[in-house]
Amino acid sequence: MRPVEFVGFTCPWCGEPGETTVDMVSADREWVEDCAVCCAPIVFRRVEAPDAEIPQVEAIREGE
Ligand SMILES: [Zn+2]
Repeated sequence: MRPVEFVGFTCPWCGEPGETTVDMVSADREWVEDCAVCCAPIVFRRVEAPDAEIPQVEAIREGE
């Protein structure tokens, strides 16, 4: 397993596709990043998927 994985997502604010990195070493399961397109804060949550080669991430609006 690589220490960092790139994961695609769709911005929950503007609908634009983007890519984020998941730190596979860190135990953080939730973090916030600003959308590169609309600059709105996106909450990323790692979804438990032990068999998945690429981590599953859900992108939701901050505050919901
Ligand atoms: Zn956006």
